[in-house]
Amino acid sequence: MTQKRPDVPAGFPAALLDGYSRFRNDVMPQARAQYLDLAKAGQKPEVMMIACCDSRAAPETIFSTAPGEMFVARNVANLVPPYKPTGEYHSASAALEFAVQELKVKHIVVLGHGRCGGIKAALDPDIKPLSPGDFIGKWLEMLGPVSEEVGHYAHLTQGERQTMLERISVRRSIENLKTFPCVSILHDKGRLQLHGAWFDIAKGELWIMDPETGDFEPLEEALA
Ligand SMILES: [Zn+2]
Repeated sequence: MTQKRPDVPAGFPAALLDGYSRFRNDVMPQARAQYLDLAKAGQKPEVMMIACCDSRAAPETIFSTAPGEMFVARNVANLVPPYKPTGEYHSASAALEFAVQELKVKHIVVLGHGRCGGIKAALDPDIKPLSPGDFIGKWLEMLGPVSEEVGHYAHLTQGERQTMLERISVRRSIENLKTFPCVSILHDKGRLQLHGAWFDIAKGELWIMDPETGDFEPLEEALA
């Protein structure tokens, strides 16, 4: 029997209501104590994850994390801007500042992913702004001339160029992380570790960046 849903504003997505209903009925009864503890004690995640907005690459799904376990900041193409204490709005930098200074996370993971629309746009020389503000275009300028450079590798396929830039952007974000004094000080002291990863959406496969070489290797063999 379908339950009547009182007081739900018209047009609220039915799929979200169904999902919430499953959460309330199936998840919450077992997790009630855990949520109550988190509410009382506050969050103490050891990991900050910087990931893309892409709906197919949700960190909580990929890493099967529980509430309170991971502090997640998502933006188009999972980019970290360089330290720049001027200007007005710095969403990524604000999340980073909170994670490092207040939550004192021990790890920051930059998670890239395959078939990233943001990275694809960065490689497209003919891309037009989606709106007069061209917010995506300006945001992706952060990748700098490397997008243009990768775009010119004519001997690679478009897919290969895209994968390459997806991984280069992870490395670049990690370098930008180190431009934040709060990150570099703790990183140099060994109290904060920086990691890169890349998720292959088609295969559901995670690749981890070697911090020494910057190369990405699939994790499957290590887990087998
Ligand atoms: Zn993406």
